[in-house]
Amino acid sequence: MDTNKKQIILVVDDSLLICQQIKAALKEEPFFICEAHTGSEAVEAVAQYQPDLILLDVVLPDAEGYELFSKLKEQDNSNAAIIFLTSKDKDEDVVKGFSVGACDYIKKPFVQGELRMRVNAHLKLKEQQDELARQNKELRSNMEKLNFMAFRDGLTGLYNRRYVVGDLLEEMRCAEPDDKKNVLIMADIDDFKRINDTYGHDAGDMALVCLANILEGICRDHKVIRWGGEEFLIALFDVTVEEAFALSESIRTEVEEFRIFHGDQEFSMTITLGLHVYLEGEGIEESIQCADKALYQGKRSGKNRSVWYESIK
Ligand code: GH3
Ligand code: MG
Ligand code: MG
Repeated sequence: MDTNKKQIILVVDDSLLICQQIKAALKEEPFFICEAHTGSEAVEAVAQYQPDLILLDVVLPDAEGYELFSKLKEQDNSNAAIIFLTSKDKDEDVVKGFSVGACDYIKKPFVQGELRMRVNAHLKLKEQQDELARQNKELRSNMEKLNFMAFRDGLTGLYNRRYVVGDLLEEMRCAEPDDKKNVLIMADIDDFKRINDTYGHDAGDMALVCLANILEGICRDHKVIRWGGEEFLIALFDVTVEEAFALSESIRTEVEEFRIFHGDQEFSMTITLGLHVYLEGEGIEESIQCADKALYQGKRSGKNRSVWYESIK
């Protein structure tokens, strides 16, 4: 809890004498106290000060306290505790005060010590509620971060393998009818071990990040997943087979032409890609295996190429 920050109390009363008495009752306490003497002043003061607690008179020259209550709430972003402090002392007045949402109701003339105790109790509660709200927000933000990280690859920032199980499968189901298909591409860097051995592991990492950027740049409307090591899974949504192959080839040539600089070294790489049309009813794992088979056919037949599973089965 922020113990240095003074809690703010807004006193809303048209009687300057009452305002003075309230201040006198709270003078020993470490609060910042501000005053408003009309309904419109009160609305402005709430917007300006965002008080923690409001002591609200019911009878004001330009407003009726029960109605003013909701206007104050509209301006109140800090969820202030509102206590009616009024000479309206009938049972039905008290009930009305609580029913509009007040957290307490104190009748005039008030006893100084009682006012002090009630104000202190409500401010303590407000402080605890604020702290809980803060912790809740922090927890939610941490959960969001964790959720993000759970589905992301630390090196490239791409989705990781876990993503496929949930979200990708959902998206694959929504293929348009007609000649548009969902196509899976499994891409793998050629002779990556040699790149690591020749230029070092950091240079290898750099090559992975460059490849991830190229893939994301070309596949903006699709999904790119770091499947593992130097293997990337690309899910193309709603494409014709011609479009899928053209995309695969433009990835392949862009990678081939891309120069990677690491320290004083300069090198390039090639990739092989295996393509497979995802079939409705086919399991995602089965489908990935087909793209993988096409990839390895591409490796066997010389690497640096795009190969359809449908052409080798
Ligand atoms: P192929 O053309 O048949 O795919 O041969 P390859 O050398 O690319 O394949 P291989 O599976 O033999 O080697 C893959 C290498 O990738 C071995 C592994 O150390 C390396 N590797 C896997 N993950 C990373 C990584 O995150 N960073 C780096 N720098 N290297 C990695
Ligand atoms: Mg490889
Ligand atoms: Mg590999």
